[in-house]
Amino acid sequence: MSIENLARQNVRELTPYQSARRLGGKGDVWLNANEYPLAPTFELTAQTFNRYPECQPALVIERYADYAGVQKQQVLVSRGADEGIELLIRAFCEPGQDAILFCPPTYGMYAVSAETFGVERRTVAARDDWQLDLPAIADSLDNVKLVYVCSPNNPTGNLIDPDDLRALLEMTKDKAIVAVDEAYIEFCPQASVVSWLNDYPHLAILRTLSKAFALAGLRCGFTLANPELIALLLKVIAPYPLSTPVADIAAQALSVEGLRMMRQRVSEIATNRSWLQQALADCACVEQVFASDSNYLLVRFSASSNVFKTLWDQGIILRDQNKQPGLSGCLRITIGTRDECQRVIDALNTLPGATETRQEPM
Ligand SMILES: *Cc1c(COP(=O)(O)O)cnc(C)c1O
Repeated sequence: MSIENLARQNVRELTPYQSARRLGGKGDVWLNANEYPLAPTFELTAQTFNRYPECQPALVIERYADYAGVQKQQVLVSRGADEGIELLIRAFCEPGQDAILFCPPTYGMYAVSAETFGVERRTVAARDDWQLDLPAIADSLDNVKLVYVCSPNNPTGNLIDPDDLRALLEMTKDKAIVAVDEAYIEFCPQASVVSWLNDYPHLAILRTLSKAFALAGLRCGFTLANPELIALLLKVIAPYPLSTPVADIAAQALSVEGLRMMRQRVSEIATNRSWLQQALADCACVEQVFASDSNYLLVRFSASSNVFKTLWDQGIILRDQNKQPGLSGCLRITIGTRDECQRVIDALNTLPGATETRQEPM
């Protein structure tokens, strides 16, 4: 008998999240995980490690609440936004009974987390314009306790129409939690629904320091919601989710200076994004570059697997989205430094048929 037979059935059947780090690759240009390309530096000020850390480090909570424009009791800090995704399932979904709902193509961790806990994953495909199919969602809400909506959506880059979000919040009142994943909201801060928290006790907003704050390696994220909902999440969170060094660095990242640097990064990335968008549109192998409110571009290529492999072989690692519903031929490209954007364009121009002056094959 193998140990595998002892595992829960849903764990045996589980496909783990295919993170860039797990896939490996010997790249030197990592454009597959929507990280910021350069490392900010910090000095650890904490010196005391013999004691357990605070469960919810007060300075981090206070600074994030100020930054987000909410009350401290409306903030939960966790080990990345991914832990926030998981805590919501653990607090609200009865395994084998309740369901979560999400709208592919979208972020992969909603499905993985639900699967881990034996909670049904119900999907309602996004419309062709990647907005919510509200009538289909309305017809699919039986037993649904949690609806995840990602805005800007990963990997498509678009914002969800705020009128549709409101309609979703109205139709789920007293029935389900709506979790709006704002992992990329720093790239379009005006689009946040944080000001709606007062109107909707069943709204939860997921945030992270992994993207615009350039701290994916820190593992620090936030859930914003009304105090009643936050109190439920505090019941299921680990007693010490953040180590002392993490809390120390997170507090620094949220200082006045930290926020200033974050906003500077956002404007650099927006400049590089416009440049790359234009340069891609001029490439012969590119069919379509989709508009983006985030730090990545979704691009449809005429021969995407060839593009993916050619760039991979040159050390440029992109994220293949070809298998996601509606995204055949699509790759997602994280916006890196200007040099990295240039490397992508140079590599695309080495593809056969990339230039008009190419020789016809004999
Ligand atoms: C990156 C990402 C997350 C995860 O953030 P972490 O804080 O690194 O766990 C959550 N949601 C979306 C949509 C993301 O792209």
